[in-house]
Amino acid sequence: MGTRGREIVGMDVSELLTLLNKAFASEWLAYYQYWLGAKLVKGPMKDAVAAELTLHATEELAHANLLAGRILQLGGTPVLEPRDWYELSPCAYDAPADPFVGTLLDQNIAGEQCAISAYKNLMDITKDKDMVTYNLALTILTQEVEHEEDLQSLKEDLDLLVNHPRG
Ligand code: FE
Ligand code: FE
Ligand code: MG
Repeated sequence: MGTRGREIVGMDVSELLTLLNKAFASEWLAYYQYWLGAKLVKGPMKDAVAAELTLHATEELAHANLLAGRILQLGGTPVLEPRDWYELSPCAYDAPADPFVGTLLDQNIAGEQCAISAYKNLMDITKDKDMVTYNLALTILTQEVEHEEDLQSLKEDLDLLVNHPRG
């Protein structure tokens, strides 16, 4: 823990740690949802979609890594028990039970939209109070916005392929 770094936080640090751990739990669930979805995906464009889902999985894991670093800097402990991820996460884990490419894309688009709202909320709460966490949330938010657009663009191509199979 960095003592001066913690002192300059202009808000309740334990409240901030709770928010960071909620985001941390979400990132692990997002990682697993993408990682497993990439293995199971079936249907048109599955190779392109699997590649994107696999890349997003690694990026969600990198977000978990950034959040763990900030939690430790503030003297907190990243969630110790995976069983707590479900309850803590503001965004639901959506099991890839239906492997159809369109269904997986829709599930992950919903997940990204939830993540975008959660990081926007974290930015609103830390604005002018904790610049380091604010900046971290902005870094992650920027990538979640990119994720949403990547998936919506794949979904658009899939819909074109299905609705206009002869181009
Ligand atoms: Fe993420
Ligand atoms: Fe994401
Ligand atoms: Mg991407």
